[in-house]
Amino acid sequence: MISERSRADGSSADVLLWQTGYRLALAVIAGIAAIGLRTVGWVRLSPVADAIVGSQAEWLLGAVTAVYALLALALRAWVKKIRRAGRTLSTLTVLADLLVVFWLVFLLAGPENYHLGLLLALFSLQLTYVYFGRFPALLMLAATAAAYLLLNDLAQRNGAEVSWPSVLTTLTVFGIGSLLVTRVQSNLHERLDALVTIFERAEEGDFTNSYDVAADQRPDAITSVGRAYNRMRTQLASIVLTDPLSGCFNRRGFEQQFRRELARAARAHTDVALLAIDLDLFKQVNDTHGHLVGDRVIAEVGELLRASARTDDVVARTGGEEFMILAPNTSLDGAQHLALRIVDAFRRRVFVEPTPRVTLTASVGVVADSVPNESIAEDLRARADEALYAAKRSGRNRVVLWSSGLDALKLRHTGETTIAGH
Ligand code: GH3
Ligand code: MG
Ligand code: MG
Repeated sequence: MISERSRADGSSADVLLWQTGYRLALAVIAGIAAIGLRTVGWVRLSPVADAIVGSQAEWLLGAVTAVYALLALALRAWVKKIRRAGRTLSTLTVLADLLVVFWLVFLLAGPENYHLGLLLALFSLQLTYVYFGRFPALLMLAATAAAYLLLNDLAQRNGAEVSWPSVLTTLTVFGIGSLLVTRVQSNLHERLDALVTIFERAEEGDFTNSYDVAADQRPDAITSVGRAYNRMRTQLASIVLTDPLSGCFNRRGFEQQFRRELARAARAHTDVALLAIDLDLFKQVNDTHGHLVGDRVIAEVGELLRASARTDDVVARTGGEEFMILAPNTSLDGAQHLALRIVDAFRRRVFVEPTPRVTLTASVGVVADSVPNESIAEDLRARADEALYAAKRSGRNRVVLWSSGLDALKLRHTGETTIAGH
């Protein structure tokens, strides 16, 4: 499964990629507008900037926007290449935005208009919070406040009159406004992330998580999507994890249940049993009665197996006419009973009534074992299959219990169960 971290890095990469287009456009527009307005004389260099950079202003104005645009291009190429953008890259990017905003404000606005920088930063802050989360947003808030204070300090040092009470009041209002904005959007990011996690799990066939509507009572679009998912969850799970013909779990559903059950058994130090079931000479059923009847038999076999198993058991159709039953917390003895019950039920059952009345037998391979860890999955399955093939080899219509060296063994029949013995 994709880790939370790499997923966050991946989505930050996507956000950075689409935002870079806007960054480039804004840099070019702001640069051209600033130079154009300066040229026609509508915008004058601020006296503070004039005192500090003087005739260099024109050149610096162009250079900063050009460097910013080039950085944005480089960033785009880099993120496109590695398809990741960690927190550092996102944070550095928004800090670069801030630097350019305050640089333009410094060059073009007088101290009385430095609050324009705060206004622009508020917009950027909101985007940062929504797309990159709380940490970069808080850092940006602190950097914005620092940049604003620094500009005013520079202005004062260069002879401008700065009213510090008014600067601090503006900053306080900005701080409160920003916190309100982020508060209103509070945990938007987290809630979206929760939805993404749920959808990614669903993509892997895991429908166990529902969206926590109780913990999220905001009547907004995210909640609606969460509710809609919850309503569809059961149907989705049944479509993705169930075999429509037999009504049993399909292979994917089985894999999922198998992994979950093995993990539980490993924790609880209990045994699990696995039954591999294959219908005997099923090809003849198709050859004699046709595929449609064959399909109806498979559907009835699904019902029969589910009726024979306990509610905790996982019954799956893992191939054309092959089934598996996973019986949690079950010893070899218990599994043998279940297998015998199934073989017996086949013998007594007539399928597809009233006509054509198909009779059929089944072979079952059984294994039961303790579970040291989940990696035993393949081994258990291989052993159950081995026992099943032994059942086929020794004449079908029977149960074989797996034991070590089964392959090389002569099978000794004791009643209905064939037990591997030396
Ligand atoms: P064995 O006892 O050795 O298992 O003999 P078999 O005939 O059951 O085994 P084989 O593997 O030769 O054939 C399996 C048959 O099951 C062939 C295939 O047509 C049939 N089958 C598999 N899936 C389906 C299905 O979904 N519907 C129908 N009608 N038949 C199926
Ligand atoms: Mg078969
Ligand atoms: Mg088969």
